[in-house]
Amino acid sequence: MLRNFLNRKFFILFLSLHHFLFAQQHLPDSFLVLKNARNTLQVLCSKSHFGRGYTRNGLEHSQQFLLQKLKFGLPLFNGLYVQDFTHPVNTFPKHNLYILNDKEYSAGYKLLPDPATASLKGTFQLHMLQNGIWKDSLHNIQLEYRRKLTHSVSTYSALPYKFYTNDSTLKAHTTINFKINHNAQVISQFKNKNLGCYVKGSLYPDSFIVISAHYDHLGGIGKKVYYPGANDNASGVSMLLNLLHYFSNHPCQKSIAFVLFSAEEAGLLGSRFFTEHPPIALSHINTLINLDLLGTGEDGMMVVNGSIYPELFTTLLKCSAPYKHLSSQLKKRGKAANSDHYWFTEKGVKSVFLYTMGGISAYHDPYDKSETLPLTAYYEIFSMLKDVIEKL
Ligand SMILES: [Zn+2]
Repeated sequence: MLRNFLNRKFFILFLSLHHFLFAQQHLPDSFLVLKNARNTLQVLCSKSHFGRGYTRNGLEHSQQFLLQKLKFGLPLFNGLYVQDFTHPVNTFPKHNLYILNDKEYSAGYKLLPDPATASLKGTFQLHMLQNGIWKDSLHNIQLEYRRKLTHSVSTYSALPYKFYTNDSTLKAHTTINFKINHNAQVISQFKNKNLGCYVKGSLYPDSFIVISAHYDHLGGIGKKVYYPGANDNASGVSMLLNLLHYFSNHPCQKSIAFVLFSAEEAGLLGSRFFTEHPPIALSHINTLINLDLLGTGEDGMMVVNGSIYPELFTTLLKCSAPYKHLSSQLKKRGKAANSDHYWFTEKGVKSVFLYTMGGISAYHDPYDKSETLPLTAYYEIFSMLKDVIEKL
């Protein structure tokens, strides 16, 4: 993996020299677009942004960084670049300790609290109930074997105290001694923000194309372990910023709004709030293109709602024809409540959600890192979206 990455770097260096000498007038080129993407990924996935979540000021750091970038456009929310909203969320802000049969298990990597699990401290005896599930019924504690530990965000805490482990050797044990100090805290009114700007259309300023991506991720567990969320969704955010950079210099006939939603991982909360308090009338949105998980592309790209809007899918298909990862591998499916386009679709706005397929399998785990994100079809998608937006 590392070796390939270094080879890539040399290739990019070669490309950059080539472009520096021969093609500066055609900027932005693939080198600049990928460089911008790598920079954005590196910042958003860094430890100080702490998984763009609800502890250690993670979301706040991302907001500060992104607001600077959005200044390329005009403020979207009645003279502001931010739309405030609040929601409850369960967090794990403090140090945690998980010891199973005298062995310590690292949070996120070997042992995962369910996102809704409340604080729990003590030593408990768990008994195997069925293969891979252990319980202490008296104290309402449950441990479950899962091959992969996939984290998420909960807006509440609930019983039982639930934990997951990916250690298959535990399956040989009918009894597990569980020593635990798990710290959780529900924040009842977390102050969150959607961010957005727009580029005014030259001919139809009241008609909007909306490009959206969620910038939040899962945050962290305790003080050290965090979820970088490179593919999900620093990749989509970086694509949105690349498009904003381009269209702020090349406005279209229609206006283009660039919206960064928050609290997607907590249940599509930012986009729901946006559709309930739209800064532009939803009837003025010509098309919404939502970007989430754009960091791979080895197996092409999926268009959610592609089969609901065949005309739009045909446009996407036409514009992806020149690109090798997209041309024969642009797939479509129907409705799905799996990202921020959902509320718009439900309210009758023509909307699609694009995500890449193949490549790495890191998803909602601490391995979704910027260093290992391949960005296989990234520049192809950028070029395709540029063409699509110009045609809408
Ligand atoms: Zn996600």
